[in-house]
Amino acid sequence: MNSNFINANTLGYLLDSGEVLNIQCRARNCRHHKDLDIRWMIKYANKKGFEGFNYPTLHKDLVKLFNFKCSKCGKRDIGFSQRAMK
Ligand SMILES: [Zn+2]
Repeated sequence: MNSNFINANTLGYLLDSGEVLNIQCRARNCRHHKDLDIRWMIKYANKKGFEGFNYPTLHKDLVKLFNFKCSKCGKRDIGFSQRAMK
């Protein structure tokens, strides 16, 4: 395995690249959204016994580990998007 390989779909990549991970509520009458704290997510994953830096940022993996729900309406129908930091 090439240790220089960087998987673009990991929390570590997000942190290094400075990209922002945004979480959005998909409930039609809510649409609440906020940026997530990648450092906190890596620490949380570590605490749960994963290698936080290499933890995948696919929707299914994020939902499984973090059990996200909307902080405004409480629904679990959420989506994620990445964007470059301004
Ligand atoms: Zn909501």
